[in-house]
Amino acid sequence: MMRKSENYRLADLGEFGFIDQIARRVRPTPDIKIGIGDDAAAFRIPPGCLALTTTDMLLEGVHFDLSLCDGYSLGRKSLAVNLSDIAAMGAKPHSCLLSLAFPETTPMTLLSDFVAGLLEIGGEYGVALIGGDTCASRGGVVIGITLYGVQEPDKIVQRCTARPGDLIFVTGSPGDSALGLKLLRDGIREGRAVARHLDPTPRVREGLALAESELASAMIDISDGLLSDLGHITKKSSVGARVYLEKIPLSQEYRAYFGLEEKEGYALALGGGEDYELLFTAPAHRRSEVEALFGQFDTAVSEIGEITTVPGIRLLSSSGEVVHGFAAGFDHFSVRREHTS
Ligand code: ADP
Ligand code: MG
Repeated sequence: MMRKSENYRLADLGEFGFIDQIARRVRPTPDIKIGIGDDAAAFRIPPGCLALTTTDMLLEGVHFDLSLCDGYSLGRKSLAVNLSDIAAMGAKPHSCLLSLAFPETTPMTLLSDFVAGLLEIGGEYGVALIGGDTCASRGGVVIGITLYGVQEPDKIVQRCTARPGDLIFVTGSPGDSALGLKLLRDGIREGRAVARHLDPTPRVREGLALAESELASAMIDISDGLLSDLGHITKKSSVGARVYLEKIPLSQEYRAYFGLEEKEGYALALGGGEDYELLFTAPAHRRSEVEALFGQFDTAVSEIGEITTVPGIRLLSSSGEVVHGFAAGFDHFSVRREHTS
């Protein structure tokens, strides 16, 4: 096992020793012809499919804070954020590359837990680790993951294909991750919101099912905040959107924490990032099919509005009045893009 003592550091094992440790823990999948250990990896993709690829970097001090998270969750989350992007394309995750820069003084336990977390979530979604790069860092920890996915060309779901009249749906309960980060910073380490922040669930099966059934007309994952990410769909699709404030699904924890007398209570649900929920549109006549499809998952799905021809996003109260202050004024509520768990 990699884990030795708390004092055991990356410098004691060396780059090749470390890579070897990773390679030994990887379970091969049938599509991988050449995995870790050569100059490049080689893999097959299913006939008739395109390969999709996405990459995300996570930097210590920018995206995570090692005093607030553990190596295992960090490993899971590093792959989860990439899985979420592949899910949002309606594709099936396939294989990944892991680029790591760690200070030589990094405890092996942290690295070992990180790799364990990453390989575990990879196993849950059928992703093989096929290579990467390892460097010593003179600054903090840097994690770069590239994930490949596969899907038939006609099934891939883009951001640019929403149509006026389509309904807008969101999975789960947005805002929990941002609430979790707030709680972590206040010294609270437990509870569902904290777990949602440290170990988000990528909606891979849901995204794939939406693509296979050709129900979603456009899709994105919520990494920057619900309204901001909906804005990507509306801009790319040259449409607008109407969103009903009271239809935003809020978790019990969220309601208990904020109370919702004031509209400011919605700030994190509408603008907080890192939920990794799916935001998608579907033709209005297929509403019941969307609900039926989600019947097979534990994940909630909520209709929150509709696509319009008028550019921009209009947020409406239950009495039908336009609610101002969210779409254009995130800064007021200090929910600008900010991560660091
Ligand atoms: P090269 O010098 O030819 O680029 P490396 O010594 O960097 O090769 O890597 C050797 C092998 O180990 C390669 O197959 C590479 O993909 C793999 N590898 C290196 N670092 C990692 C890592 N952090 N995770 C997984 N595989 C890695
Ligand atoms: Mg290399």
